[in-house]
Amino acid sequence: MIDLRPRRPWESDEAAQFRDMVRRFLLAEAVPRDAAWRAQKFVDRDFWLQAGELGLLCPGISDDYGGGGGDFALDAIVSEELSYAGITSFQQLIHGGIVAPYILHYGTEDQRQRWLPKMASGEMIGAIAMTEPGGGSDLQAVRTTAQREGGSYVLNGAKTFITNGIVADLVIVAARTGPEPGARGLSLIVVETADLPGFRRGRNLAKIGMHGSDTAELFFDEVRVPAENRLGEVEGQGFVQMMQQLPQERLGVAVGAQAMMERAVEITVEYARTRSAFGKVLMELQNTRFTLADCLAKAQVSRAFVDRCIADHLAGRLTAADASMAKMWTTDRQCEVIDDCLQLHGGYGFMEEYPIARMYADVRVQRIYGGANEIMKEIIARSLG
Ligand SMILES: Cc1cc2nc3c(=O)[nH]c(=O)nc-3n(C[C@H](O)[C@H](O)[C@H](O)COP(=O)(O)OP(=O)(O)OC[C@H]3O[C@@H](n4cnc5c(N)ncnc54)[C@H](O)[C@@H]3O)c2cc1C
Repeated sequence: MIDLRPRRPWESDEAAQFRDMVRRFLLAEAVPRDAAWRAQKFVDRDFWLQAGELGLLCPGISDDYGGGGGDFALDAIVSEELSYAGITSFQQLIHGGIVAPYILHYGTEDQRQRWLPKMASGEMIGAIAMTEPGGGSDLQAVRTTAQREGGSYVLNGAKTFITNGIVADLVIVAARTGPEPGARGLSLIVVETADLPGFRRGRNLAKIGMHGSDTAELFFDEVRVPAENRLGEVEGQGFVQMMQQLPQERLGVAVGAQAMMERAVEITVEYARTRSAFGKVLMELQNTRFTLADCLAKAQVSRAFVDRCIADHLAGRLTAADASMAKMWTTDRQCEVIDDCLQLHGGYGFMEEYPIARMYADVRVQRIYGGANEIMKEIIARSLG
């Protein structure tokens, strides 16, 4: 079997050592606990702290702020190894790959010092709340308000589908700070949730997959936060900030999708080599061979593009269109490959105890969040001129 996990072209020696450490940690500490996380619908805080101690939470953030002092390559490695280990419960991507970079890029020195070290250690778990019950794709239609009153912002509104929302101590909230319609009136406000009057978590939503990752409704009723919790020197920067950061989020989704597609091929080849039907192992049947050949080709071709996008991002030249292509392409291919691989497992493929069954349920959302794939097409099409 071809090695689907060779050393990446963008992986330095230090990054390869980091990968080894992450892999060993996840196998020893996350895999045995995943069933419990899925049953309770969130990851225990002690695991966040453990991951923080090993430097898994903010590996791409400068060590001046408690991070690992690396770059996106380390975040990509955490995403890949989570997928290879079959863990979708632990949303490091949101915490360290999305929330922390907003603070790093748009925060003042004081904000960075206040929040990033605690995020790196796991003392503070991060979430980002853009989506509202009325819509997620159209970010310009955000209705949550953050009204300036003296030295505070007063937040009113509701958010939904928020990853880490049940456990988060720090939530970046997209809110309307000005009367200007559309994009111009939006700002990002950091909300520290501990003992905060008017802030309420709703349901931990019941999903069809990714059961170990909490997904919350959040409510803000006259929630008062200090005005210095706004990200950005002036009001109205929120939309631009989101547009600048979404390519990294989308690449992060693509990286996880790619690795999970590779794992699906690996475990299905293994299964097809041992299962028999009509006096032959499945692997000898032409349909099995052709199906897996298709899956392998999809995974390998897609890998080349994902690696190129990671290298581009590390060099600071990833375009929004390429990030959208990577997100759309890998998540579409991932769903096809995992569906085909499940079929080759027969009835066992429908049994939750089999990893392929859990993958099937877990991956469906990948085409929806991080910007639905239809929105990705809009962004890609814009690059056509
Ligand atoms: C498990 C999970 C975790 C999530 N985590 C977070 C999170 O942490 N933070 C957060 O803010 N959000 C999060 N989301 C929300 C997610 O980003 C949104 O669900 C997504 O952006 C789509 O928004 P929507 O659900 O409101 O669908 P809608 O925007 O109502 O879209 C419905 C359908 O219409 C299509 N559509 C919409 N506009 C267009 C258009 N212009 N052209 C063509 N088709 C269009 C969409 O592609 C989709 O197929 C999460 C969602 C899920 C399910």
